[in-house]
Amino acid sequence: MLIKCLPLILFSCALGFPKRVHIGGLFDDGEEIQRTFETSVKSVNKERFKNAELANVFLVAKSNQVVTDTFEVFLKVCELMGTGIAAIFGPQNVVTSEHVQSICDTMEMPHIYARWEPMQIRGKGINLYPHAETLSVIFDLLITDFEWKSFGILYENTDSLIRTHRLLERWDARGHTIFLYHLGSGPSYRKVMREIKDAEIENIIIDSSIEILAEVLKQAQQVGIMSEKNKIIVTSLDFQTLDLEPYQFSGVNFTGVRLIDPNNNIVQNIVRMHKNEWGLTDPSQLRVEPALMYDAVQLFARAFKRLKDAIHGDVKQLSCNGSLSWEHGYSLSNFMRLSEMEGLTGLIKFDTAGFRSDFQLDVLRLAEDGLKKIGMWNSTNSIEWQPESEPPKSDMEFSLQNKTFIVLIAISHPYGMLKESADMMTGNDRYEGFGIDIIQELSKMLGFNYTFEVQADNVYGSYSKSLRRWTGMLGKIMADEAHLAITDLTITSEREAAVDFTMPFMNLGISILYRKPTKTPPSLFSFLSPFSAGVWWYLIGSYISVSLLLFTIGRICPAEWNNPYPCIEEPEELENQFTFKNSLWFTIGSIMQQGSEIAPIGLSTRMMATSWWFFCLIMVSSYTANLAAFLTVETVVSPFSNVEELANKKTIKYGAKVGGSTLMFFKNYAHVKESNYTVYKDMFDTMMANAEDVLPPDNDSGLKKVLREEYAFLMESSSIEYITERHCNVTQIGGLLDAKGYGIAMKKYSPYRHALNTAVLKLQQSGLITELKTKWWTQKRGGGKCREDGGQSQAEELDLDNVGGVFLVLTVGVALSFFYTIIELLWDIIATSRRENVSFKEELIAEIKFIVKCNSSPKPVRRRKGSSNRSREDSTRGCTPPYGFIPTIRTTSSDDK
Ligand code: GLU
Repeated sequence: MLIKCLPLILFSCALGFPKRVHIGGLFDDGEEIQRTFETSVKSVNKERFKNAELANVFLVAKSNQVVTDTFEVFLKVCELMGTGIAAIFGPQNVVTSEHVQSICDTMEMPHIYARWEPMQIRGKGINLYPHAETLSVIFDLLITDFEWKSFGILYENTDSLIRTHRLLERWDARGHTIFLYHLGSGPSYRKVMREIKDAEIENIIIDSSIEILAEVLKQAQQVGIMSEKNKIIVTSLDFQTLDLEPYQFSGVNFTGVRLIDPNNNIVQNIVRMHKNEWGLTDPSQLRVEPALMYDAVQLFARAFKRLKDAIHGDVKQLSCNGSLSWEHGYSLSNFMRLSEMEGLTGLIKFDTAGFRSDFQLDVLRLAEDGLKKIGMWNSTNSIEWQPESEPPKSDMEFSLQNKTFIVLIAISHPYGMLKESADMMTGNDRYEGFGIDIIQELSKMLGFNYTFEVQADNVYGSYSKSLRRWTGMLGKIMADEAHLAITDLTITSEREAAVDFTMPFMNLGISILYRKPTKTPPSLFSFLSPFSAGVWWYLIGSYISVSLLLFTIGRICPAEWNNPYPCIEEPEELENQFTFKNSLWFTIGSIMQQGSEIAPIGLSTRMMATSWWFFCLIMVSSYTANLAAFLTVETVVSPFSNVEELANKKTIKYGAKVGGSTLMFFKNYAHVKESNYTVYKDMFDTMMANAEDVLPPDNDSGLKKVLREEYAFLMESSSIEYITERHCNVTQIGGLLDAKGYGIAMKKYSPYRHALNTAVLKLQQSGLITELKTKWWTQKRGGGKCREDGGQSQAEELDLDNVGGVFLVLTVGVALSFFYTIIELLWDIIATSRRENVSFKEELIAEIKFIVKCNSSPKPVRRRKGSSNRSREDSTRGCTPPYGFIPTIRTTSSDDK
């Protein structure tokens, strides 16, 4: 049997691979990669008895430090080839690596490396580094998920631009705005960073090699682009190896991506085994390229085992001058591409194109307790975000029960005030007010304890460019010196970016506080006020025209022609009481409510007189009624009635609380908003030009200025309401310039926000906040002092619209009487013409001639000669004493006795 097998054994020994397989390593990039290469070889050799995948594989590492000189590298490769090796690992340098690649291609020698390569081509060497294109996908996805519309890329070299080319492609004229900033040659990158800061670019992608990344981040923080308002993404897969503690508490939103998961068991085991050789204390310090080199050797060993199992081949000593190649080289490369294993860099697997596939990248966010995994990308089309990276948490999770909060308040009436008491008080008992009550109610509802702390300087908080931080109460919240802040603290977009607010517990807007308008001194002609000028002119016109019409109608109306006093039997002429003078007198007598002795007799004149009297009745009563109101109401005058008029008034100064949201509102118009409406911008410039004088430190100082000077204080309507309840000589002028609210501030992403929000909403819904407002605004501390009892109605002058109907009645009456007098005249002419036996026409002409002869008042009685046809009525016609009714003359005889 042995004899039978011996030739086979001898044959396999003769043709089989040697027991020790040599592999060459070329290293030009420090010792880290060389070290992992050598430890990986040692680990394979150790494992060959335990691990079936590595059974009987014994590697001998021929590692060499090389420079970046191509010729020298060429000589080294030839030397290695001459000794009979199975593969070449490295180097890292692009130029020399490509040179090594071409030699290996010629000799069909497997070339294995691990470096970022922009133009990786299929079929050449084996690169364990994830493909450049695949890597750029993840940054593109990050930008999409973060919804960055505008961002800047701070880059080191052209490789950076290749790495971020997908992001650059996002640019379009109306959508994404992308700013590119080249880091420069260093060592100071601050100049370009300052440009980013001045351009107010908040979203920044930093692409630099790990060698300078620490310095770049340090300088970025110094310049101030690593603050709470910035969002940073770093593209280096090694960023987790840096000391990020200095940025942990800066509030910066810092995101990065890692290939090596330090919490992975394989990683932890390998690092634990080699930590002394590698000089690492923690798996998170392991960089990608050395780790990939470790994995490369492991993968090679497994592939070699498979080759050895499949083929009985041998390594070959090759000469660079010859034309020989290693016939098993490509098979070995193919076995490597087909192998799969779990390594330091996750799953090592290649796709059909020969590029690494199915690897996983973790998305990390820098939090106060270090780097946190917030998402994961696994060669898919989207990032899987971890549920715990989503901000909202349930109330149960973040119960406020028995927690103690430091609550910042400010002494600002009525939100926070010192209690007025003769007793010595301590702790929270010292304070009272609207804000204090709200916190009390919230604590009852949520079960937390609190300690009030007063903001002594009354600064609520704004971003200070010079200090490069938030000031006041908000600064303290951000620096963790307090948990909550409550006062008349307005929610603004700038503040919302720095801290979190609850829902607004009160709504308000900017308005103007100014002295109450002064009363006008009574005018000499105030008796004219009840009617507008138009009505007065119409009244005069009516008086004149009615008088003239009365005169005319009186002349036309036959009944107005009377036998003059004393009555004679056969009067030669008749008299008319409506002479021109009498007509004027009659109308003025009625309007003055005095009457006259003239009494109209004819139906038409009476009709006219009636309508005139009715007109007078209504006009006089309206005048009297309105006069009473005018004499009691005082008219007030204000120098301005809105903000535009205030802006145009050069004699009145105006201002707002320094550093407050009101001033911010005007500042925004001056610096941010592009608008044709320049009033607010001009107002801001004016305020800033006299800042010392017109910008008081708090509302109380503003009020004092209003009371003492020609000064209008721009403040919030809720505070104006509070002041006008107590100071009766100031008032709100004009409407609201904007609409906003007060909220309780807390640290950004505070876990208590949701619970506090819900509680504030509940307080609002229960009506408690309204009750508290009534208490602190109108009841406590002198509220309601200036409330006027009963609304005082303002009298307004009567316009033509109010009394137009009276004029109409007068006009209709006048028209009717005119019409009627014509009928009367015609009737009389017909009667006369019959009686006197004259033609109607003749009599009509005679009458008209007389009427138009205005100067002759007595009217001659026309009687034809020989006419005896006189009626009784005619002989006694109109025998009246001047201006009176016809007396009844009774003739009595002595027989009657
Ligand atoms: N409520 C303002 C603020 O939160 C202060 C008062 C004002 O600016 O009118 O800054």
